[in-house]
Amino acid sequence: MLHDASGRTITSLRISLTDRCNLRCRYCMPEDGVHFLEHAEILRYEEIERLIWVAAQIGVTKIRLTGGEPLLRRDVAAFIERSVHIPNIQTVALTTNGLLLPELALPLRRAGLSYLNVSLDTLHPRKFEEITRFPALQTVLQGIRAAQQAGFPALKVNVVAIRGFNDDELFEFAEFAHAENVELRFIEYMPFHGNGWNPNGFLSSDELKARLMERFELHPCKNAPSAAAKTFEISGRRGRIGFISAVSHSFCGDCNRLRLTADGFLRPCLHDNIEIDVKHPLRRGASDDELIALFQEAANRKPDVHRDFLTSTEPDSADGRAMVKIGG
Ligand code: SAM
Ligand code: SF4
Repeated sequence: MLHDASGRTITSLRISLTDRCNLRCRYCMPEDGVHFLEHAEILRYEEIERLIWVAAQIGVTKIRLTGGEPLLRRDVAAFIERSVHIPNIQTVALTTNGLLLPELALPLRRAGLSYLNVSLDTLHPRKFEEITRFPALQTVLQGIRAAQQAGFPALKVNVVAIRGFNDDELFEFAEFAHAENVELRFIEYMPFHGNGWNPNGFLSSDELKARLMERFELHPCKNAPSAAAKTFEISGRRGRIGFISAVSHSFCGDCNRLRLTADGFLRPCLHDNIEIDVKHPLRRGASDDELIALFQEAANRKPDVHRDFLTSTEPDSADGRAMVKIGG
């Protein structure tokens, strides 16, 4: 098993398949864009599979595929089909902006993908275009329906809550969760390199919950300790509401994750720039034991807790990566 210095057990690996994206969300991509990785810099599928295989030997049971936009990676369904058969891997999940789900939802489900999360920050076409810089709301809604029809259980919809942008849609989101029978999770807006972090746009989960409770009765669900979201049922309605409070209530103590960037670095923490190169050792022919040692190093260097973004005078790191280049 892979334990870190604080005794946390690592069971989950988030893998960025690409840093490319077909949207340009303002809270994720810097205003002046990003320099995308060259093809040769990105881990090949067989390299990622080797790393999953190694991680699975030391206790990783769950992988989540992300990016950039993971569905832009060619032949992603075939890669998932191979990944689900790696011994000890119990769950393969994926986070997507949903644009390619109308055509890919069914192949992904048939490939054995366990769970899907779709990101959607507004239910209004004009605002969708404002935040993502593309007029594509209808395609994402079609994608969510395609995922339902493909039979994905417990479909989750991620909403980054931003004061002054989508906090006038809270009741609409709750109605959407009921109408589509999905778990709609509000993610607290977080600072990343170049994303124009402005603490005034921050909206805490506590405030969101209090505002929703002005109209709806929320009943807490039982959540696993390592679950990022605290979820609630809405009285008399289908679907669920969840809150991911990485800023206001850090859940570092229960964090069971490592991240693998598209260019082959293990990141022990989303909010810390520590990175361990696994690509070059892999390409130089590292043995399984050498790769296991790199996973252990990543676990050893996992910070106990990330800094407090709301009070920190240095909320953004000049040499850090933009979110799109880490993998959310
Ligand atoms: N492209 C895919 C998508 O949008 O779902 C996967 C990658 S995206 C980086 C993963 C998640 O990170 C999305 O749910 C997105 O909303 C979230 N995210 C990106 N920037 C964020 C920020 N500044 N604060 C909070 N969540 C953020
Ligand atoms: Fe692309 Fe997802 Fe980032 Fe939006 S949040 S720019 S869809 S990677």
